[in-house]
Amino acid sequence: MAEENPNRLSEWLLIVREQAPVLRRRFLDWVEDCKQQPYLIWETTAVRYSAYGLIVLVVMWVCSTATTMLSPPLPVDAQSLATSGDFHVLCSDEDCGQHFVINRAFGFHDFPVRCPACKLLSGQSARRCLSTVCGGRYVVPIERDGQSQCPYCQETFP
Ligand SMILES: [Zn+2]
Ligand SMILES: [Zn+2]
Repeated sequence: MAEENPNRLSEWLLIVREQAPVLRRRFLDWVEDCKQQPYLIWETTAVRYSAYGLIVLVVMWVCSTATTMLSPPLPVDAQSLATSGDFHVLCSDEDCGQHFVINRAFGFHDFPVRCPACKLLSGQSARRCLSTVCGGRYVVPIERDGQSQCPYCQETFP
């Protein structure tokens, strides 16, 4: 086995050496032909497909670069905007009634929260009532018959 490999290699070298002048002559012939008829370069399949491949690669590169350049960078606060929001809160204490805004993660419903004015744990989730009676003021909806209602004008919230 150990001796076979070098022998096979030398056999190959011999074949290559024998074929080399033929290949070189063919290649030179091809170069000569191409010099006289330049379109022959294009006629050669290997050259043509390499060119096609190159064009496809360049187009893909240009497209990906353009896409990267055209898409604007994400605003710095995009992530905080996406995960949290402002919640309007009304203090349910009759003597206080403070209206304030808290910023919590979306889906937050851990009410009541502490009121910053009277320090009581009486801040309830509020929403605007757009009826003509309330005129867009913030109210704490009450549950009645399985529906959210305004405690002042009985407007039903969707
Ligand atoms: Zn309060
Ligand atoms: Zn109302």
